[in-house]
Amino acid sequence: MTYKKFTVYSNHTIDSSINTVLENAINLVEKSELYDCNYGYNVILCNNSFYNKIDDKLLGVGRTARATLNNVIVKVRIDPENNLAFPTFHKACQENLAEVIAHEMIHCLQANKYGILKFNPFKPPEFWKLEGYPEYISKQKKLSGKDYSFTNDIDRYVTLESKATDIWVSSEEGGCEVPDYYYKGKLMIEFLIDIRHLSYDQILKDPTSENYVYREMIKWNDSTKEAKN
Ligand SMILES: [Zn+2]
Repeated sequence: MTYKKFTVYSNHTIDSSINTVLENAINLVEKSELYDCNYGYNVILCNNSFYNKIDDKLLGVGRTARATLNNVIVKVRIDPENNLAFPTFHKACQENLAEVIAHEMIHCLQANKYGILKFNPFKPPEFWKLEGYPEYISKQKKLSGKDYSFTNDIDRYVTLESKATDIWVSSEEGGCEVPDYYYKGKLMIEFLIDIRHLSYDQILKDPTSENYVYREMIKWNDSTKEAKN
């Protein structure tokens, strides 16, 4: 079926509840400087499909979703009516489906703007820049909510990271855990865009090291908290 700039493919019957999910995904992606209202996406819902089995063999089991060219590939079971995706790889949990799709749409737009040679699975930009930005954009609704505090989120990450025994740290809702560099990357991109007022384009071009940016963010967080006390 089609909706706006989306063509949705599925082996299972889907109804129009997917439209609301896609609308919510657009509302998030619109906030990105990479957004292009003329860019069209294929959304491929391929849980339990033959394609999924081949994809798992080629690129490894475990991903919830993936992006190639203008294809947003959702590999796990979904419930569009309740806006949920159900990853099972690391542990069974629930994710916000619109956020999953928005994250992958940003990957499409990264390749659209910067070219597949700069954004491909074999030679991507640094991980925190590659994954931090889609995370930052797909969480925009939460980040602009009145209950959200950036300094608390940094503190939360630092605590989780110090206690973690492996790379997995808990994300906010649904019992999902994410590799810590997704969370760290989201915070660092948020710091550079919202506090330092850089664009994503400037961030990509900036040679400053990951460690330096992280230390700057922690310093900023400490001084902000001190100023409040
Ligand atoms: Zn990603």
